[in-house]
Amino acid sequence: MRIATYLHAGQRQVGLVSADGLHVTRLDLTADQSEKGALSIIETLAQGGKMPASLGEPVKLADVELEAPLPKPRRNIWCVGRNYHAHAKELSASVFKDNNAKTDEWPIVFTKVPECVVGPHDDVSVPSEISTQIDYEAELAVVISKGGKNITRAAALDHVFGYTVINDVTARDVQMRHGQWDMGKSFDTFCPMGPWIVTADEFDGTKTTVRCWVNGELRQDGPTDNMIFDIPTLIETISRGITLYPGDVIATGTPAGVGMGMKPPRYLAAGDVVRIEIDGLGAIENRFV
Ligand code: MG
Repeated sequence: MRIATYLHAGQRQVGLVSADGLHVTRLDLTADQSEKGALSIIETLAQGGKMPASLGEPVKLADVELEAPLPKPRRNIWCVGRNYHAHAKELSASVFKDNNAKTDEWPIVFTKVPECVVGPHDDVSVPSEISTQIDYEAELAVVISKGGKNITRAAALDHVFGYTVINDVTARDVQMRHGQWDMGKSFDTFCPMGPWIVTADEFDGTKTTVRCWVNGELRQDGPTDNMIFDIPTLIETISRGITLYPGDVIATGTPAGVGMGMKPPRYLAAGDVVRIEIDGLGAIENRFV
């Protein structure tokens, strides 16, 4: 299934996207359920409930406004830093200079606040009075189904509901100066997400490719099997002593090719358009303003 959250006729709805990606059919949810986006479906299924029925005729995707599938995640988004070998190398002298040795054993984990999530085609606001180093990070994100604590690596994929695309937008100067990363990663609008969630039965997150273009120029092109810590290991690690809940999101890190890693660095400015596409999942495209 491809589960989308969208606005149609002025109302938030949740629906299933057709296999050709051209139509969406709404699901039979109450207004309160629809307001939570795909989270209401994830929670219902995690509690052993049934998938809601489809309602009415399919409508053209072109006639609706896609929102983030989880317009406001239930809590902070878990994020992993330094998780592709080539990306670890490109920032080894800057962001990762204090972490190069010790993070071969344990991943860097930080969070973004849920309120910074925006839709797959929404604008991202550049806080130019605060940062002059805005950067993109194309990422595959895992959405948790049934929760749990101390989930083993072997059982981890049983806890995956599906996958979506995230741009972990980052203010590098702010990220570097506070000794932790949440602030530089959590500005309003800094987490474009979408275009929908593809469920785990239809998509293998361990064998796909993450690509990112800035103004049409390919910048990132990384296969997910190049991750330093694979998806089961990330779930095992983050759930150590911490209960994961249905609808939790884990952004799995970005491949090489971020703006900061270029010589000289090339940061984003108002007017730039960033497109991220993951094979088998879909694409998001956001203008920076
Ligand atoms: Mg990231």
